[in-house]
Amino acid sequence: MNETMIEFKQISHQYGHVPSVQNIDFTVNSHEVVGLLGPSGCGKSTILRLAAGLETPSAGEIWLKGEKIADAKSTMRPEDRGIGMVFQDYALFPHMNIMDNILFALNSHNNANLNSIKRHQMAIDALEQTHLTDYRDALPHQLSGGQQQRVALARALAPNPGLILLDEPFSGLDNRLKEQIRDDMLHVLHEIGTAVLIVTHDSEEAMFMADRLMVMEKGSIIQTGAPVDVFCRPDNAFVAEFFGEVNRFETSVTSGMADTPFGLFPVDNIDDTDNAIMIIRNDGLIIDPRGETADAVVVETIMLGRYSIVHLELYWERIGAMHIHARVPGITWYDEGTEVSIKLDSSQVFVFSQQG
Ligand code: ADP
Ligand code: MG
Repeated sequence: MNETMIEFKQISHQYGHVPSVQNIDFTVNSHEVVGLLGPSGCGKSTILRLAAGLETPSAGEIWLKGEKIADAKSTMRPEDRGIGMVFQDYALFPHMNIMDNILFALNSHNNANLNSIKRHQMAIDALEQTHLTDYRDALPHQLSGGQQQRVALARALAPNPGLILLDEPFSGLDNRLKEQIRDDMLHVLHEIGTAVLIVTHDSEEAMFMADRLMVMEKGSIIQTGAPVDVFCRPDNAFVAEFFGEVNRFETSVTSGMADTPFGLFPVDNIDDTDNAIMIIRNDGLIIDPRGETADAVVVETIMLGRYSIVHLELYWERIGAMHIHARVPGITWYDEGTEVSIKLDSSQVFVFSQQG
């Protein structure tokens, strides 16, 4: 059974007099990985710190397994919450071997009733879960970045917490390793079935890890949903632009049709307006060099192997000269000056009324 592990009810917080997050509402259930996605400074770490008990809310309530653990008046101590944390810098003790690093975490107040045999067994279990058994006697500097990250995870998992908080846990790792380590960690987390709240500013990482996404902007959660739903049906331009490079321009909507340089584009639920924003993901421009219309001229092609980025120029009466970027899969090359026809992939085009 999936039960609610943590619930934020109308949580607000400020650092001194400066507001950080406002009216935050969400739950994380057991067996669920929830991703908190947003740009730097939007309040992601603050939410984790509130969950962990390192910050106190100025309003609202935080509940853990059906018990209120924080409001503006009182707050349960971090060590009493039974929540595991992995931060960006793994903060392992350099002079202690891996086993001792994990045992140290088990010596906290909340585990005072455990005898040393039980603690030892919990540390051994955590090493096994994270495939680190062979490294129990190693010192942190003898391990790779990915392995150190797993130690940090083992340390967080050892007390069997109901909830794990991960703050940008992959940002210290080099890109080549990141995908493998993300994948490994996700398998471990799924096996254990603990509730997970993971913070990232990387949309691909969030989509890879999370069962549910919460997108943040300036201290508020502005959209929540399954990753694919948020990606395919962003509520506003900010969310649409957060998932990779886009082309953005102003346009108008008349009778359910948005004006584009490539003809009219049908839109739902937007009243007539001269003040709309059109966002076309780079993958949403379909280039045909043999098409009948000459919609744009190639300025440059940059081949990146798995895909190419094509820079295009065009003229649209409404705006004048425009420079746009298309992303095409595979090894593709168009000579500078090639005239191409362009169609839109409607699943990668979004129109928002600026008033709304
Ligand atoms: P994120 O993790 O999304 O980058 P944070 O939660 O760290 O964002 O920060 C949210 C806001 O609170 C930012 O404007 C940041 O500058 C501010 N802030 C973070 N920590 C502190 C602090 N200890 N004192 C004062 N302001 C802080
Ligand atoms: Mg942060």
